[in-house]
Amino acid sequence: MSFLPPEPPEGRRIGAIALVGAGPGAADLLTLRALTQLQNADVVFHDRLVDPEVLALTTARKISVGKDVGANAWPQARINRVIIAAAMEGLRVVRLKSGDPSVFGRVTEELDAARRAGIPVEVVPGITAASAAAASLGRSLTERGATERLVLATATCRPGEVADLAAGFTPGTTLALYMAMHRLATVEAELLATGAPANCVVEVVQSAGTASQRMVVTTLRGMATAAVGLKNPAVVLIRWPKTATAAATPRLEEMEC
Ligand code: SAH
Repeated sequence: MSFLPPEPPEGRRIGAIALVGAGPGAADLLTLRALTQLQNADVVFHDRLVDPEVLALTTARKISVGKDVGANAWPQARINRVIIAAAMEGLRVVRLKSGDPSVFGRVTEELDAARRAGIPVEVVPGITAASAAAASLGRSLTERGATERLVLATATCRPGEVADLAAGFTPGTTLALYMAMHRLATVEAELLATGAPANCVVEVVQSAGTASQRMVVTTLRGMATAAVGLKNPAVVLIRWPKTATAAATPRLEEMEC
C-alpha cells in the first residue's frame, strides 16, 4: 500500500487550501491573515452565514456551499471533493467559514481530505460568535471568582444524537450555546431539571458583531419565551456563577439594538 500523495496532473502545479475564519460578520472583525488569504485566492467556497461585507473583500470566484445548520447544504463529502479538485488544478482555494473554523465548522473533515490528497492546507482562526456576543454585551465570557470555566456547546448534533448539555453545566460555568434557537424550550427544561438556578442570567445575541445585531437579556426560567422574537444566527450565553446559591441578582431587562 502506498502512502504517497497522488501526483497532480501532468505539467500542473498543485494549489493550496486555506480553511479561513470569516469572524461573526463585520469585515473589520476579520484577521489580517484572513484578509490576505481572501485577496490572494483564486476561488472562495463559503458558507451561507458569511456576510456579504466580507465576500466583497475578494475578487476571487465565489461559490456558496450553503451550509447553515444543515439547511440546503452541500453534503460534506461533496465540499471535500470540490475543494480538493480545485486545488489539484493548481488554484489557491479559500474555504471560508463563519466565526472560527474550528468551532463547529467541520474543519477536521476538510483537513483530513486535503492531507489525504497531499495538498498543502492551513487553518486561519477567526473570532467565534460567543466572543463577538460578549463584546457586544460589553461583558466578559469569564468572570474571576464567578465563572471560571467556559463551555462551547452545540445544541444540534448529528441526526439521531442528543446533546448532553447538562453534563457541562455546573456552578462556575458560562455555557455558550450554538445552533440552539430551535430547541430553546427543551434546553431550558433540561438545564432546570439538573438543578441549575432558575435565575441564571441568559443573554441571547442574534447576528453578533453585525449591523443587524439584536439581543435579549433574561433568566434561565423563561428564556425560551423571552427570546421568541430572535432567530438564527444567534448564540445563547448562560451563566451559572460558582458563588450562586439562589444565583446572582437577576437582570430581567430586555435590550434591543
Ligand atoms: N464557526 C462558527 C459557528 C458555526 S455553527 C463560529 O465560530 O461562530 C453556526 C452557529 O453559530 C449558528 O447557528 C449560531 O448559533 C452561531 N453564530 C454564527 N454567527 C453568529 C453571529 N454573528 N451571531 C450569533 N451567533 C452566530
